[in-house]
Amino acid sequence: MRPFLQRCAFWLLGLTLASLLVGGLLGSAYGLALAVGGLLAWLGFQLYYLNKLLRWLESPAPDRVPEGMGSWQDVFSSLYRQSRQQSLSQKKLTNALERFINAGEAMPDAVVVLDEHDRIEWLNPMAVEHFQLDRKRDVGNMVANLVRQPGFHDYLTAQNYSQPLLLRLSQPVEQVLSVQLVPFDSTRKLLISRDITQLDRVQTVHRDFVANVSHELRTPLTVIGGFLETLADMPEPTPDVTRQFLPMMMEQAKRMQSLVEDLLTLSRLENGSKTTTLEKVDMAALLNTLRVEAEGLSQGRHQIVLDACDSASLWGNASELHSAFGNLVSNAVRYTPEDGVIRLAWRMERGRGVFSVSDTGIGIAPQHIPRLTERFYRIDRGRSRGTGGTGLGLAIVKHVLARHHARLEVRSELERGSTFSVWFNADHLAPGA
Ligand code: ADP
Repeated sequence: MRPFLQRCAFWLLGLTLASLLVGGLLGSAYGLALAVGGLLAWLGFQLYYLNKLLRWLESPAPDRVPEGMGSWQDVFSSLYRQSRQQSLSQKKLTNALERFINAGEAMPDAVVVLDEHDRIEWLNPMAVEHFQLDRKRDVGNMVANLVRQPGFHDYLTAQNYSQPLLLRLSQPVEQVLSVQLVPFDSTRKLLISRDITQLDRVQTVHRDFVANVSHELRTPLTVIGGFLETLADMPEPTPDVTRQFLPMMMEQAKRMQSLVEDLLTLSRLENGSKTTTLEKVDMAALLNTLRVEAEGLSQGRHQIVLDACDSASLWGNASELHSAFGNLVSNAVRYTPEDGVIRLAWRMERGRGVFSVSDTGIGIAPQHIPRLTERFYRIDRGRSRGTGGTGLGLAIVKHVLARHHARLEVRSELERGSTFSVWFNADHLAPGA
């Protein structure tokens, strides 16, 4: 490809030579006319393509670059290459930007981009949820005017963003947010917010649990400590005093032992695998064992009846089921006054297996029923402790049942009695032992 100026120079030189030749052969008037005509044609040619170029520049697109002749062919093909390259790199940039925006939109955390005056530049859908913002209306507005939770304004103006700010929201739903500002780009900031409601709940449960365990252990320890101190203060404890103190100390030690055993059982159930090893459990034998145990606990104060016992066996973990059913039976004995009746049953209903323990005991008011399986939830603390309860029995039942995909149903009427039924799915049932 010849350079533009060289092409022009050749063309003009050719025209000059031709004009001189024509002038020499036909007279100078003809030569001049050829020179002028040639120059006008050349000028028209340039103007024609210049006009095409100007029109293309109004909306430049590589597929609309005009075709040219002579020097204009070089100009247009060079323009085509450049504009194609530009359009490719623009497409690449647009794709990269789109990917970043899509990633921001899909983020499970809320993200808000703030300008140097803390005005909202961009926000993702999660930010709409966390701060009740509007993606169109709120862009360009000061974030401090829109996020009005107590503490946020101080956090924004304090300029110390090393620690996140905890926001406890009550509207529209109860939510705990961990909010952090991250400066970037020398003037801008990212406002990031993470929903930590679940984590906060777990921490609260954990704190309550530790407090409850400490509280449960403190009473028996105080009692034992008190007796020991009294004994130590006596110059010579008489056998009578010792005999009086020892059973009480043993009772408290037993209480601590039960608590620790229940805690260990719970911890094993909570930390072990979600499923359990299944074996064929002979329900007739298990119900018989439970009846004997109930009689042992009752010491003849109640009537224990084995109401029904289907021949079907159960696929389950025998020791876990024994522990769960044992807790239900023990509760029935403990919360039923003397002369009451406790009925155990294993029957088939609507294709499912139902183990139930009914009592004619004190009953449970409806508002307590949904919370019975919470750890340390007790309706009457004194009565529970007085009968050797740890407040963990039904929590253990809940865990064991979850591992057997079974459901607990509680029906109760105050002062008339309760029925705790455990429903097992058909796939846990097996024909006779
Ligand atoms: P606890 O060791 O206190 O018995 P549980 O977890 O076994 O703990 O039971 C939780 C609470 O549920 C008990 O404190 C008691 O108030 C109530 N409860 C459980 N079973 C019965 C029942 N059969 N009759 C009346 N109340 C019951």
